[in-house]
Amino acid sequence: MSLIVQKFGGTSVADVEKIRAAARKAIRAQRQGHQVVMVVSAMGKNTDGLLDLAGQISREPPAREMDMLLSTGEQVSVALVAMAIHDLGAKAISLTGGQIGMKTDNSFSKARIQSISTERIRRLLDGGNIVVAAGFQGIDDDWNITTLGRGGSDTTAVALAAVLGADACEIYTDVDGVYTTDPRLLPEARRVDVISYDEMLELASLGAGVMHSRSIEFAKKFRVPIHVRSSFSDTEGTMIVAEAESSSQPVSGAAMTPDEARVTVLGVPDVPGKSRQIFAAIADRKIAVDMVVQNVGTNGRADVSFTVARPELSNTLHAVHAVLGEVGAQGMTHDEQVSKISVVGQNMATQTSVASRMFRALSDAGVNIQMITTSEIKISTLVPKEQAGRALRAVHEEFLLHQRPADAQSWGQIKAERRDSADVDTLVSRLQDDALEALTLTGISVTESQARVTLYGVPDQPGVAADMFETIGAASIFVDMIVQGYDGEDGLTSVSFTVHRDDLNHSLEVARLIQQKHGMRDAQGAAEIAKVTVSGIGLRSHTSVGTILFQELAEAGINVEMIGTSELQVNAVIDEAKVAVAADRLKIAFADALL
Ligand code: ASP
Ligand code: MG
Repeated sequence: MSLIVQKFGGTSVADVEKIRAAARKAIRAQRQGHQVVMVVSAMGKNTDGLLDLAGQISREPPAREMDMLLSTGEQVSVALVAMAIHDLGAKAISLTGGQIGMKTDNSFSKARIQSISTERIRRLLDGGNIVVAAGFQGIDDDWNITTLGRGGSDTTAVALAAVLGADACEIYTDVDGVYTTDPRLLPEARRVDVISYDEMLELASLGAGVMHSRSIEFAKKFRVPIHVRSSFSDTEGTMIVAEAESSSQPVSGAAMTPDEARVTVLGVPDVPGKSRQIFAAIADRKIAVDMVVQNVGTNGRADVSFTVARPELSNTLHAVHAVLGEVGAQGMTHDEQVSKISVVGQNMATQTSVASRMFRALSDAGVNIQMITTSEIKISTLVPKEQAGRALRAVHEEFLLHQRPADAQSWGQIKAERRDSADVDTLVSRLQDDALEALTLTGISVTESQARVTLYGVPDQPGVAADMFETIGAASIFVDMIVQGYDGEDGLTSVSFTVHRDDLNHSLEVARLIQQKHGMRDAQGAAEIAKVTVSGIGLRSHTSVGTILFQELAEAGINVEMIGTSELQVNAVIDEAKVAVAADRLKIAFADALL
């Protein structure tokens, strides 16, 4: 018999009528022959109300009591939903996180799921009940109530769908699906029928916020198809699955993170271990670092730039300030009037000129790019905050995101496909011990025969990056990583990119032409480099990955020349002679997490 999980967010159970409507949806699915598990959030803004109440009692409420308090919101809503189902003539049982055996670690307010017991749920389902499970909450080994973090009911729902082997996980919410960009920022945004897990992970990290990003990590790991749909209309919504909407369109979505802050540490000695010191100091304060640009230096020193969410800026500056002396850096600068504009697309990895098209679109809109980072399916740029709205519109238009791609897969085509359950069941039983939500790495690999080209003294003006990468593209050179950061000299930046070693000489010739045309200071290449890549699920939410990588490389005396991070991969460009040692060390360091 098929089993579906239906999750109802706070707005979908905000009042008595909405609770009845949710109950009717579940009953309808049951009458159509499915077993139904509902996962329910707290009513409306109830969680915010409880937070506010706690704030009035205490300035720093104990974390354990906070979770005890917040979990009550979901307990209210599951009981009411179960009553509504009874009232409509069907059978239902509500269960708390503890009652569904949702075991978590003990990090209150951001607990991670370890295991879920399914017996009781199955027994109740077989008895003809709709099971109404409280979202967002679990219990630790000592039976303390824990919560998964704001928005965590999505993660409860997808995790339940994974361990129950559900056929689908439906997310009922107040939006009718996933859009090419936030429709509140850009009215021409288009609802997509289909989006891939990887794209969704990158978009969630970019602040697209339709779903809790840990829920997408679960879905990807256990191949749960997610169906996002509106509680209030009958539109078809969006399927989140392994494949993308189109197999040719290079970009599927664009996002703006309006409130970023850039920090640059100037004159960092270009020797192993220095970045590790800086980023460890930041990680110690549990601050998540976003874009990281560690560019190749001159005169034995490099500038390291990165961004954090603006509210974290002062905390970050303190952390860095405290280690400046120890690191031997020459100073630091920051800018809090910056925003991040990114494009994401599964097909980007195999297409050329996506970066130069993006840079050209930004330049034509008069937008100055201050920093660039790329990963396999994402290009991010840092731009002045007052230009961000224009920038988002320009890239959305350039990649025709308002139009449905000609080869788009429709919602119906995808819906028919079911996951292959044998593999998934093995994985579930393997991880059910205590590690459903642990960091999962799918591989540590090495790309040899790489080369790097760096342009120094690049004027920080609109159009320069576009011209550079158009010229390189016109010469048929395939560029892998691109990094633009600060140069140390006022108003100048430096840009590095990697190419296949066979293309190095050609790339350098082209780079010298670009250098002359724009009056840049220097163009240099390095042939003996390689890339080491750690791939997996949850690389950003498990903030330790970057720290461990830096630590291992530093201990082996390996200098990191360029670094790129995303949800899916952490890439480090290093000396080719040391790449085998690096990969071996990383395999040992991450042995527990490797699948
Ligand atoms: N009620 C919790 C919150 O508001 C969990 C959720 O809605 O997913 O964050
Ligand atoms: Mg919510």
